[in-house]
Amino acid sequence: MEYLVNVVIPPLRQAFTYFVPEEWEKMVDTGYQVEVPLGKRQAQGFVISKFPLSSYQSNDEYDVKSLAELPLEYRSFDPKQLPFFEWIAEYYGDSLSNVLDVAIPKYAPPKLKRLIHLVDNCDTSSLRGLRQKEIVSLLQERKEPVTSSELSKRFKGAHGTLKSLESRGIISISTEEIKNHHLSNSPAPSWAKSTIELNDQQLKVVPSLHAALHQQAHSTFLLHGVTGSGKTEVYLDAILHAQSLGKSSLLIVPEIALTPQLVDRFRARLGSELALLHSGLSTRARWDSWRALLEGRCHVAIGARSGIFAPIQNLGLILVDEEHDHSFKQSEGLRYNARDLAVMRGKFENAVVILGSATPSLETLSNALKKKYTYLSLDKRHTDSPETEIEIVDLTKVKRSEMISPNISPRLHEELTKTLTKKEQAFILYNKRGFASYLQCEKCEEVMTCPNCSVTFTFHQHRNQLLCHYCNLQLLPPEFCPACLSLDLDPNIEPPGKLTPRGSGTEKVFDELCSLFPEAKIDRLDRDTANNLQEYRDVLDRVRAGETDILVGTQMIAKGHDLPGVTFVGVVDCDVGLHFPDFRASERAFQLLTQVAGRAGRGDKPGKVILQTRVPEHSSIVMTKTKNFLGFAKQELSERQELYYPPFSKMLRIVCASQDQNIAFQTLQAFRKHSESFLEKHGYHIMLLGPTPTPIERVKTQWRFHMLFKAGSIQQLNHLLRELRSLKLKTRKVRVTYDLDPYEML
Ligand code: ADP
Ligand code: ZN
Ligand code: ZN
Repeated sequence: MEYLVNVVIPPLRQAFTYFVPEEWEKMVDTGYQVEVPLGKRQAQGFVISKFPLSSYQSNDEYDVKSLAELPLEYRSFDPKQLPFFEWIAEYYGDSLSNVLDVAIPKYAPPKLKRLIHLVDNCDTSSLRGLRQKEIVSLLQERKEPVTSSELSKRFKGAHGTLKSLESRGIISISTEEIKNHHLSNSPAPSWAKSTIELNDQQLKVVPSLHAALHQQAHSTFLLHGVTGSGKTEVYLDAILHAQSLGKSSLLIVPEIALTPQLVDRFRARLGSELALLHSGLSTRARWDSWRALLEGRCHVAIGARSGIFAPIQNLGLILVDEEHDHSFKQSEGLRYNARDLAVMRGKFENAVVILGSATPSLETLSNALKKKYTYLSLDKRHTDSPETEIEIVDLTKVKRSEMISPNISPRLHEELTKTLTKKEQAFILYNKRGFASYLQCEKCEEVMTCPNCSVTFTFHQHRNQLLCHYCNLQLLPPEFCPACLSLDLDPNIEPPGKLTPRGSGTEKVFDELCSLFPEAKIDRLDRDTANNLQEYRDVLDRVRAGETDILVGTQMIAKGHDLPGVTFVGVVDCDVGLHFPDFRASERAFQLLTQVAGRAGRGDKPGKVILQTRVPEHSSIVMTKTKNFLGFAKQELSERQELYYPPFSKMLRIVCASQDQNIAFQTLQAFRKHSESFLEKHGYHIMLLGPTPTPIERVKTQWRFHMLFKAGSIQQLNHLLRELRSLKLKTRKVRVTYDLDPYEML
């Protein structure tokens, strides 16, 4: 029988049909990578279906070309994954072609080794010279083939000798593919415990996980455990339990958490079962992991965001650590969220999903409150070190002349001095993402906020304007603070406050600390000092080794590190992130503050935290101090509900960028017009906001505008998204970005 295949060729969106040459007829099938003729060139693609020629129906008479080449003699993905990939394309309004392009790593061609065999009953009497005799006697001793690379290492000039032995029929040479090239079997270091006994609170949560695994049906759990409570141990227990049932597990973690320490901890418990998938690996190592999973040679995979696509066989358990982390959201191209995909994949594969975090996202928490997910909690740290004390320093009560340096208050200075005297370590967080400025009252500290959207107004100095980047409301900045004025006090006795621009802070804390503590070893961790994972690890390794006294950094210092020497954490300015024009600003701030506070006192010495702020009553700050996650979440959820933000609505953001301000704006206007008639035609209810300039209006000479869509029904929103994507409303001069479930609002 003759066959045809449908092939997608990224970045082209549609599929093309090709004829399968007879020699590949039995082999090539869904999941293979192929090279195909495309116009005048040759392109790479993925086979997404195969069918007999007899069933081919086509209106156009163009003649079907043949596949040109087969770079790999095995599949690149498992056909069983196809429904999941198709779902992703459908959900994000993208093409299957693009999904496969993103999901499947670049392949590495097979790596071969040459094996030297001693020919049975060969005549060894004619051996000449020492080298030949040595090689043959080694082969006789081993009784099995030896690689040519080993022989070349042992014997200088082995290459020529082997040739001569082969020509005389004494040895034969074969080639074999090296698999498992990367799958290191090196033993885990001794500090990584190979067994532990679960503690009482862990023992309380594992039975329901075991029960779910036994059922082999889909269910999702939220494991809410304070930092250091032993979530990772619960993951390990669940993985081992899945293994005992013959099921594989997939763990995804934020990229930055993929340190050797984490991997060692898993290796100590799981042995060589482990495959790693993340962007820090070489193409070959990544491809080897991918293939080992595809062929069922590994049963546990640990990966960053893209690990969610791993072709793991017999999947029974998917774990997402730090599920609230925004790095699970891909920020370009196919803007998927790996945490959301984890839950969906669990549905497709009847797998149990565990989402773990000390500060769960409100999306996940609300699913738990609605009982869609099962809520499990670990509310104590594993060690019984004393509770970390969190203190708020109200900067409005500190006079400028009292400040030790522009950013360091007397209390912060005092605690830092104490920490250094005790020879302990400190983390100083300075969240310097403060480029968008806002107006704040000098007196009552009220920040100017949009009445419609409850996001901070962005202050545009050059046009002296306050602008809401969600709904486009524009105001002339008032001279006096409206909050002060509303108190209706006599201006002669109690004058209202003036508004001042704030927020565009400079990177000065490091310098200030260096001059305040000239003896201390101070290090920095931010995007400028750590460009890659290795530099990032080096900075943290220096902290672990006790070589650093104070580490100053951005939110990079807040993530998951277990550094027992750190007893003090200071936050220079809690407020910058708080006043971001983003409806998740409070949630982000709470997560960041709670996570960074969790870095203090993880060893046996007590921890201390100081939060400097101008809004000491803000719930993100107060509830960080009182460690009241649920209290914070419930209050924030009710505000979200009132303003119809996720998780109470589904959101879509469309950004247009162009050199020409008008084109960017008009393209979105056209989207808006078309959306309005589309909604009317289908009777859909979707709220349209904008177009407005984005908070960062101009990036790399491109003017940026955006529109937001809020919908109650994801089906309606998907339908609209696909409709808008299929339109030819844009010209070459504008770049359009579609972002469903957006996290980025700038
Ligand atoms: P989390 O992932 O919640 O931050 P971890 O699982 O990393 O917490 O646990 C924190 C520390 O406590 C780790 O060093 C871990 O080895 C240890 N630990 C957790 N549970 C146990 C246990 N049952 N027995 C011994 N050590 C434990
Ligand atoms: Zn005021
Ligand atoms: Zn607004």
